[in-house]
Amino acid sequence: MRKPFICGNWKMNTDRAGAGALANAAARTAREVKGVEVGVCPPACYLEAVIAAAKGTALVVGGQNMHTDPSGAFTGEIAGPMLKELGCTYVIIGHSERRHIFGEADEFISAKVRAAFKFGLKPILCVGEKIDERKSGQTEAVVRRHVTTGFAGLSKEQAHEVVIAYEPVWAIGTGLTATPEQAQEVHAFIRRLLTQIFDAALAQAIRIQYGGSVKPDNTRDLLARPDIDGALVGGASLKADGFAAIITEAAKGKGL
Ligand code: PEP
Repeated sequence: MRKPFICGNWKMNTDRAGAGALANAAARTAREVKGVEVGVCPPACYLEAVIAAAKGTALVVGGQNMHTDPSGAFTGEIAGPMLKELGCTYVIIGHSERRHIFGEADEFISAKVRAAFKFGLKPILCVGEKIDERKSGQTEAVVRRHVTTGFAGLSKEQAHEVVIAYEPVWAIGTGLTATPEQAQEVHAFIRRLLTQIFDAALAQAIRIQYGGSVKPDNTRDLLARPDIDGALVGGASLKADGFAAIITEAAKGKGL
């Protein structure tokens, strides 16, 4: 069985004290709720404090972004080896805010996924359509492009370690959630796509999170769907109680 994975994406939020408190709370929940992997992706400046809080616990930590190069003249960027040295396990790649606010192209994101493996990090690859794309029937075409380019050049062993986050852009930070049916439909499509790219066994092993206004009250229904293996949680991960409730509800959704 694929282990459900709930990961908080704090984006450009909180402060040092808040980061420590959220990390301690998430680590507590990770210990209490069996069978669910729990992670957080804090702003880069708080990674060290959060990783210190997570030490010796089951909480895993990721970066929110990463450059393709290991070092160099890239003002404001963070390199994979820096994340690795701090103790990150994961790195979010291709978040819609990176794609659509900062103009990151498919090829750059594809190179980042391959670079993540070179630097010993597991990518959380975000894919998903914008509202106009959904309305014009392009959801599958967009998701196919994101998945195909995201997995380009990966070995089967590497592909197995990728976590996909299906995040319809229209549901991120808007309070609009894809219905469990809408999310399941796209997750199943992604799994069929992975079967075509790799094989059925590998497609069944790759975890696909849902993201987009996940809250305690919609988590259980989403996670109850067979192809939804977790959640990437933005706003609701900034409240310790709410994030804990999401983890608990995820376990219930999976019957754990
Ligand atoms: C996200 O940032 O990945 C996200 C899903 O945000 P929110 O939960 O706030 O919609």
